[in-house]
Order: sequence, then structure tokens, then C-alpha cells
Amino acid sequence: MGLLSEGSPLSWPETKELADHVRKHGITQFINLYNLLKDRQGDVLKWGDEIEYMLVKFNHETKKAQLSLRGQDLLPVLQITEKETPEKATSLWRPEFASYMIEGTPGKPYGGLLAHFNIVEANMKNRRQEVCALLEKDEQILSITAFPRLGCEGFCVPEAKPDPVNSASRSLFFPDEAIYLAHPRFRTLTRNIRERRGEKVAINVPIFKDINTPSPFMEDLTVLGDDGEKGRSALPDHIYMDAMGFGMGQCCLQLTFQACNIKEARTLYDQLTPMCPIMLALTAASPLQRGYIADTDCRWNIISSSVDCRTREERGLEPLKTNRYRIYKSRYDSIDSYLSPEGERYNDIPLVIDQEAYKRMRDAGIDHLLAQHVAHLFIRDPVSLFSEKVNQNDEEDSDHFENLQSTNWQTMRFKPPPPKSTIGWRVEFRPCEAQITDFENAAYVCFIVLLTRVIVTYGLNFLIPISKVDENMKRAQKRDAILNQKFWFRKDLVSQSSPTDAESTARQEQICVEMTIGEIINGKGEEFQGLLPLISSYLSTVEVDADTHCTIHQYLRLIQKRASGDLMTTAHWIREFVTKHPDYKGDSVVSEGINYDLLTTMNSIQNGTIECPSLLDHPRTKTQSSIPETIRMAENCPSTC
Ligand code: GLU
Ligand code: MG
Repeated sequence: MGLLSEGSPLSWPETKELADHVRKHGITQFINLYNLLKDRQGDVLKWGDEIEYMLVKFNHETKKAQLSLRGQDLLPVLQITEKETPEKATSLWRPEFASYMIEGTPGKPYGGLLAHFNIVEANMKNRRQEVCALLEKDEQILSITAFPRLGCEGFCVPEAKPDPVNSASRSLFFPDEAIYLAHPRFRTLTRNIRERRGEKVAINVPIFKDINTPSPFMEDLTVLGDDGEKGRSALPDHIYMDAMGFGMGQCCLQLTFQACNIKEARTLYDQLTPMCPIMLALTAASPLQRGYIADTDCRWNIISSSVDCRTREERGLEPLKTNRYRIYKSRYDSIDSYLSPEGERYNDIPLVIDQEAYKRMRDAGIDHLLAQHVAHLFIRDPVSLFSEKVNQNDEEDSDHFENLQSTNWQTMRFKPPPPKSTIGWRVEFRPCEAQITDFENAAYVCFIVLLTRVIVTYGLNFLIPISKVDENMKRAQKRDAILNQKFWFRKDLVSQSSPTDAESTARQEQICVEMTIGEIINGKGEEFQGLLPLISSYLSTVEVDADTHCTIHQYLRLIQKRASGDLMTTAHWIREFVTKHPDYKGDSVVSEGINYDLLTTMNSIQNGTIECPSLLDHPRTKTQSSIPETIRMAENCPSTC
């Protein structure tokens, strides 16, 4: 989840005092990095996935499933190979926000060879096995986005009680023990975000109203020691949550690409932006929150509220007195501006920027689009700072830049090369929700990577006004968005011609139309070709071995059927599981027993002991752990690639 500086965390008042210092040096560091690396060329396409996992402990006697707070026990062991013999590491492991979470990536990035698509899933399986080897009896690792009863009484083991008076979050539900405490970053972020905001974070998710759900739905939380804030913050007919952990304690699937140079990185950043809401809807997997069925399918807005450090003034609830800006979005949200010259005309939402930072970057020769992007990230205060890191060498360090960059959690992230490394300009694709199986996670990853190949090879253009992408983000999170919503998408992906600035907004709007995700992915007759047919025609022009071909085919079929609604999204399947469960009382409640049955079923689907055709069909990929030598040679690639 970002920069893991070691050291002694400063309090919020101390951090606030140093905010200008961090921003000033952060900008100097960015300018230095930019000047050093702006002309860097010739990096090859490399890419990798990141999956966040949850550790779950099952009690098969009492029929209970709880989150196991053992991340800090497992990580040091999981990291031994990387530390001692990094060349042998097939997976890399990092802590995440919660002590029941861990994050895994492949040991080495994948490259440009098509055969790499055939080792993604095997690597994911192997990653899981590395963890399984360390688990206790009845403990499992699950790649699920949301734990259905997160924050309910006894949701974790060892059991821990929330402390609304002294804990970092002051939550009524989420104890500090569920935060990953072996690194100070996460608890510090929790406390500082709350203190900066001036009150607890408030998350309100619309509840799914079933036949027996009380109306209005309003919980009495006084028994939990309600501190009065709940009374102010909780909305009727919503599931109320009050801690960073409810958001950052959810898991996702991310992808990072290395581009050949900064220009290509900007293009990929922009071109993938309109795909963010589409992929969010396609991967929707989190309809259960704090023991209730929500009326939404995705984690996005929940995480957004869970780290919303804006004060009342910044949120526009009070006139600006002590703060600098009215800020329209949380630090975790969709991006606000495109970065490539082609994207510029579609930057149509207000962009608040740090003027001083902008001017310094412009004076240093950085172009308008990049300067405004960074100056926008820099309207935020740092929310975690370590005393040992306050004074840095701006020629060599980039921690102050990274501090703000890594606490702007947006749908896309534009990443400059780290100082003194062999890594190039990268972009990160961050909207997807984690799926139950390695097959699905691999399928989504390969689909997005293939799409970037198609975009770059054919020079396709996906750009639509940013305001339309934001509108799509809202629609993507609605219940069954795949079945019920339409999304703005560019009509003509091939033509580069776009209305000029001088032309009217009305004309700009004509470049996109509303379509279902089925139409966007699979095509709409003569009117729209569809993304999968484009990928298929690309694949028909390149050499690919039979096994990889078979695997890719299965991945694309999953995407095709999820998009058309022939297969369920994870969210839809979870809803159905709960509402059809014999114990379910039509009251929107996910009981302990339903939670147990759901998670054991998900675990069995994951490890293949039960099939789930309504979600997956009958996948049998030919994934393997390494690329056979003959194929390497056939694709004319040295064994290091
Ligand atoms: N868990 C967060 C999410 O689901 C992402 C945290 C990170 O940036 O790694 O989006
Ligand atoms: Mg992460």
C-alpha cells in the first residue's frame, strides 16, 4: 500500500507542522527525478500483478469463520527467500493495512513474450502454496475483496475488542489489533487521517432492503459505547462504518506496466483510464459489509470514505477559514486529469492544484499536463511522516515525493522510475476487485495486458471526457451494474480525430455513447466492434504456442461471459448464495453461520474441490510454472527474458 519507510512516526500536529517542508522537498525531488529520467528510452514492456489476500481461520465445530491476525507472523518467513537469495524468489510478499492481510506479487516481472500469459496463473497458485505451507490447521488464505462480517463482534482471532476512546481509529467496531502493527505506517495513517479530518471517518453504504429488513434501517449502537458521532454521521437505511480498516482492510487486484519511455507511460495512463469503471463493474465482488447485504457491489466508495482526511471546510460543509482549498474528492478516488497531449481536451472537471508547486515545476521545464498532475497530488498534506526521514538529500532521495504520491490512492498511478534503479516509467492500474480463484485473477490480468498491446499496436483511442469516466465510476458500483447499467464509451476507437477545444461541449459529447458492458466488451453489431473482437484479431496476427493459446482463450471466454451476463459476477454470486441460504431470514443480515458456509464454499471453489459453473464455467487452462525452452527459442527470446 505504498511507501514503507522505517522509523519513529510523528504525531499529527508534528506532521502538520512539517507539511510544507515535505511538499517543498517532494517537488524538488520530483524535478530532480524528472530531469534525470525524462529522456530515458528503450525500456521493454514489463508487467506484473499484485494480489491482496486475507487469512481466514475456520472452526468447523462451531461453524465460525474469523479473520486470522497472523500477517506479522507469516511475513518474515515469506520474505526469507527474497532477502537471502532474491534471484530464486518466485513471489514477493509485502504487508498490507490489516494484520489479516498480505500482498503478493510475482518474483520477477513478466515480459513481452505472449507465452508469459501462460505462467501467470501458475505463479498465483504457487504464491498461494507458499502461504499454505505456513498456515495452522484450519487456517486458509483467500483472495476475497471483503470479509462479510468485518467489524462484527468476534470477527477476528485472537479476538480483540474495539476501543472507541483510545484506539487509533476510535472505531466502535474495528480494533487496533486488526491493523498491521508490525510496521508503524498503518496505525499512524489511521490516527492522522482521523485527526486531520477533525472527526472519525464516516462510511455509509446503502443497505439492500429485503422483505424483512427494518424500515427505516437504523441500528442502535449505544451498547457499543456510541460516542455521539455515530448519531451525527450514520445515515438511515445505510450500513455505517467508522474506521480506515473498513476500506483499506479490503483487497484488490492491481497491475503495473513498465512503458518504453515517459511518453508511452502517459499514453497508457490515459488510455486505460476509461477502462477503470468498466473493470470495476466486471470484477465487482464486495456486496457484503459489516454483516449486512449492501445495495452496492464494489469496495471503491467505501475505501474512498475510509481515508477521507478532508476537513469540513475542504468538503464544502463550512466556509474556508483555516484551510487552503475546497477539495472535491478523497485521497482515494478516480483520477482527475489526463496526462497526454491527446487527453488534454478531455480534462473537463475542476482541478485544484498547489499553485506554488505548479510554478516551480513549470519554471524547471516540466510541461503543463505533468506539472498540474503532480501539483494536484500535492494539495494533500502528508499523513504519515517518520522523524528519521524529515531531512533528506533531494539529489538522491525521493521519499518526500513518494510520501504524497503513495497516499494519493487513485484509479491509475503514474510512477516515475525510482532513483538509481534499472526500472523505467510505469503506470499502475488499480480499480479491480480481488476474485476468488487464481483462474479469474489471471484472466482479468491477461485481458488488461492484452488490451494494452492492442491499444499500443493499433494506436487505438479510448479517451472520453473525465467527467464521463467519473459518472461511469458511480454506475459501476451499483448492484448488478453489468446487467442494469449503461456506460459512456468512445464510439470510434480507431479515429484519432477529436473535436478541438474551440468546438462545443455538445460536439465533444458526441464522441461517446452509452452502452452496456456486454456491448463494450463483445461488440454491438455494426455500431461498435467490441474490445474482445479487437483482441482476437490482434491475436490472429501473432505467433503463439498451443498451450498459451488455449489458456488465453479460456480467460477471454470468462470475460466475454461475465460481460454478457451469462456468467455471474462474484458480487452477484455472493448475493445469491446469501439470499438463498436456508438460514437467511430476508432481513439483509449475514449471520455467523451463513458467513461460515459462504467462506468454506469460496475456499472449496478456489482449491477446485467444488465446481461453480454459474461463476466460472468449467475452466481448464494449460498454465505452467515456466516457459518451456522450445517456446522461448521459437519466440527468439534469450532465457533471461
Ligand atoms: N486495498 C486497496 C484497494 O483495495 C489498495 C491498497 C494499495 O494501494 O495497495 O484498493
Ligand atoms: Mg496493496
